[in-house]
Amino acid sequence: MRLRAMAKINLGLDVLGERPDGYHEVRMVMQTISVYDVLELKKRKESGITLETNLPYIPTDRRNLVYRAAELLMQEKGVTDGLSVSLKKVIPVAAGLAGGSADAAAAMVGVNRLFGLGFSREELMERAVRIGADVPYCIMQGTALAEGIGEKLKRLPPMPDCYVLIGKPKVSVSTKMAYETLDFEHVKERPDIDRMIEALERKDIRRMAGYMENVFEPGITGKYPVIREIRTVMEQCGAVRAMMSGSGPTVFGLFDDRKRMNKAASRLRRSSLCRTIRMAGIYNPGEQTYVESTDK
Ligand code: ATP
Repeated sequence: MRLRAMAKINLGLDVLGERPDGYHEVRMVMQTISVYDVLELKKRKESGITLETNLPYIPTDRRNLVYRAAELLMQEKGVTDGLSVSLKKVIPVAAGLAGGSADAAAAMVGVNRLFGLGFSREELMERAVRIGADVPYCIMQGTALAEGIGEKLKRLPPMPDCYVLIGKPKVSVSTKMAYETLDFEHVKERPDIDRMIEALERKDIRRMAGYMENVFEPGITGKYPVIREIRTVMEQCGAVRAMMSGSGPTVFGLFDDRKRMNKAASRLRRSSLCRTIRMAGIYNPGEQTYVESTDK
């Protein structure tokens, strides 16, 4: 079975406070984009899970979210057959695009189908939060409001189609580091998420763009000014909005015109600001099926 694990961007990201258990309360507008890793799942006679990836620095044991996601479902249903997974990473790692969470979500959907475990989508999402706060959203996909620690989800009117340019600089940022650089007392720019939702209802990207913010961006940009430089290139080339995604450092630009996106992509390629550049689109699930092809 082959599956696509789709990346996300945060169109808006607000942190409301810290909970007694150390997790943070967030309010985010999430959007799936058409940049994806590919997972191939196969049953094996020998029990246990084996995982291989195309990137040598990604763990292939229990530290990999794919491993943990598959194991969680297989243990609950007492699956005795084994599983082998091949993971082709395309989503930049530690980039703020939820690559690991997307892989875990795809693994849960895939294992459920491959072994006929009979979990509903809601049951998968309930279990997914044990793997990570963004994993339930990665199962849901599309345009959504995420609250709580990211696991309380509400479907929003779909983001209108547009072009999405992704630029990842040569630095990596962990979520831990992003929280450490967040100065709660002095957050100046917050997204206006309610107004963003109104703009989505009117299918008005330009209006929405005026209310988009990521509270992590000033702190991370202070540490890595290259983020601002990438953003500036995208803005100069006519992006409707350019912003950092998640805990960074990836910058995404939303464009309503392909030529402008191409221009920004070639200017970024000529500069040495980015390690990875990807041109993508908005992905909303609609009637499309998650599984690319099934081969039993
Ligand atoms: P988020 O947007 O949720 O903060 P991220 O893009 O910052 O996610 P990931 O790409 O998910 O971060 O990876 C962060 C770390 O998790 C990596 O350093 C890696 O060692 C580990 N990891 C575990 N499983 C995976 C996976 N399937 N793909 C990539 N990284 C993984």
